[in-house]
Amino acid sequence: MSQKIEELARANVRALTPYQSARRLGGNGDVWLNANEFPLPVPFELSQQTLNRYPECQPKRVIERYAAYAGLTPEQVLVSRGADEGIELLMRAFCEPGKDAILFCPPTYGMYSVSAETIGIEYRTVPALDGWQLNLPAIADQLDGVKVVYMCSPNNPTGNLINQDDIRKLLEMTAGKALLVADEAYIEFCPEATLAGWLQEYPHLVILRTLSKAFALAGLRCGFTLANKPVIDLLMKVIAPYPLATPVADVAGQALSDEGIALMRQHVAELNANRAWLFEQLPQLNVVQQVFPSETNYILVRFSDSPKVFKALWDQGIILRDQNKNPGLAGCLRISIGTRNECERLIAALQALSLEQA
Ligand SMILES: *Cc1c(COP(=O)(O)O)cnc(C)c1O
Repeated sequence: MSQKIEELARANVRALTPYQSARRLGGNGDVWLNANEFPLPVPFELSQQTLNRYPECQPKRVIERYAAYAGLTPEQVLVSRGADEGIELLMRAFCEPGKDAILFCPPTYGMYSVSAETIGIEYRTVPALDGWQLNLPAIADQLDGVKVVYMCSPNNPTGNLINQDDIRKLLEMTAGKALLVADEAYIEFCPEATLAGWLQEYPHLVILRTLSKAFALAGLRCGFTLANKPVIDLLMKVIAPYPLATPVADVAGQALSDEGIALMRQHVAELNANRAWLFEQLPQLNVVQQVFPSETNYILVRFSDSPKVFKALWDQGIILRDQNKNPGLAGCLRISIGTRNECERLIAALQALSLEQA
């Protein structure tokens, strides 16, 4: 019976491996350093008592506040159910299944391939160079038929920024052929690196943002797509009629108030200080082989025996993200920056393992 139902499904869906979110992978921890979340909840109160009514498709206050925050006009902003929905809307609006392709450069964020597979769009990969920079000649060779190029900067899970000179070249290379989507999920940790100021120059540039990371609102599911009006207008054709629940718009509006933004900046400063502390501590441990530079709220670390480290910490309730199977990341674990206390617990646990190994 269930066999028959399986056969009814689309072939690409039958073949699909769903995104292995940190939440799905589970674990029984009390120190969660595996999903790049902010470590503490930020309190909000709901002010809208109108749940009998459908919400606005694009809540005005949220759009206006995000536009002001990003230095753009409201017509350049689309709000959606997380940046993940933005990733998918772009494919649905711009890629013909079975004909067009997307392209990205691994190791990078996992949802580009998952969304492409779900919709039935071919994806091409051009592995990043040393230092996880763009391999421009290889990208140029692969661009035929590509409608959307996804580039994550700073990149998840490696933590580095993509060189801006290379991004300019990629924008020249894709002009008139494909969109270049810059995923800026972590831009609050290095705000000077944003490409938002480039939108006026490049009609095919698109930027993805989220409230899930620096704004401490992963549970809210609220993200933004920044682009020029012609792109936003096309996305508006394919977005659901009511993508954001009324309470989501309510909280997002508060998070984007002056006080909300000031609190976010204070949190970013705290996490950046904790990251600097980890950068001092980690290289001193003999289980650690390599600590990669990071502009984000996580650090990628290569260990001499990463499965052992992962398991030993897991058993102590410290949950990291295994990157071992990601191309080029053998032996690597990704560590989200937690509270100072959580960082100290992490280092203490790694020190104990290092003594064992000595
Ligand atoms: C977390 C993350 C997202 C998804 O953000 P949501 O708004 O929570 O959907 C998108 N891109 C990257 C690179 C991320 O790390």
